[in-house]
Amino acid sequence: MGKQPFTLPPGSKFRLEEFDPGYTGKYDDDDDAKKDAKENLKRLYELQEMMYAQGKRALLIVFQGMDTSGKDGVIKDVVGAFNPQGAHIHSFKVPNSEELAHDYLWRVHKVTPARGTVGVFNRSQYEDVLVVRVAKLAPKEVWSKRYDHINDFERLLSDCGVSIVKFFLHISSEEQVERLRDRQETPSKQWKFSPGDLDVRKQWDEYQRAYEDALTLCNTEHAPWYVIPANRKWYRDLAVSTILVQTMEKMDLRYPDPVPNIHSYSVE
Ligand code: ADP
Repeated sequence: MGKQPFTLPPGSKFRLEEFDPGYTGKYDDDDDAKKDAKENLKRLYELQEMMYAQGKRALLIVFQGMDTSGKDGVIKDVVGAFNPQGAHIHSFKVPNSEELAHDYLWRVHKVTPARGTVGVFNRSQYEDVLVVRVAKLAPKEVWSKRYDHINDFERLLSDCGVSIVKFFLHISSEEQVERLRDRQETPSKQWKFSPGDLDVRKQWDEYQRAYEDALTLCNTEHAPWYVIPANRKWYRDLAVSTILVQTMEKMDLRYPDPVPNIHSYSVE
């Protein structure tokens, strides 16, 4: 895929300015990457089928990123390769009153993937140390404890057979402006334009700092963060699919043994 570090060893400080959001590795353009991208998607489908058949392990994929960073796009382009029967996508919005009446991980834990399936989070538990911190929805004494809670929660899932992989879709501030303007101007995209996104954009730097802390404090062996260069959509998809293939290849997925003496049955 190329040389840029996509992740750092647990304990290292993530500094987002050290990651180039426009990086495209050894590839010049979309055409150049097409073959590898297609192979990745085919392999993902095969691996997921094995996971479903085996029914022992689960995979949780977390997507986070600033508005317009491509969370919806990567879900369509990469997650779309999986058989929908064994994949569940959850988008986390502003918590409703029932969710707010519980601890903040309650709504998350309920939708973690069952054995044999893939769970995809479009936003996640990390909103509780991102928007909650930057928009001051809770005081520091409250959100600062959450990094440990989240690490413990992810450890619990991992101990129970859930592999976890977390992607931060990294775009530049300039790229975000272009994408917001595109949403404003293109009729088929105008439904995505929300004036509220402009207020969030004003807090770009605060969000980058909040992301750096989340990535640094919650980057563990069992639930690593990857910073995905996301200015180029085709490279974003290629990088995510490559890391997913690598993650799933390490999950020891196998088809279960067939029934004993399978050939002794006569199928007529
Ligand atoms: P999208 O993910 O496509 O931007 P929305 O426009 O509905 O979807 O945005 C979801 C909103 O919900 C975001 O502004 C996000 O910050 C907010 N949100 C998600 N989780 C929380 C949370 N735990 N507390 C407060 N706001 C949250």
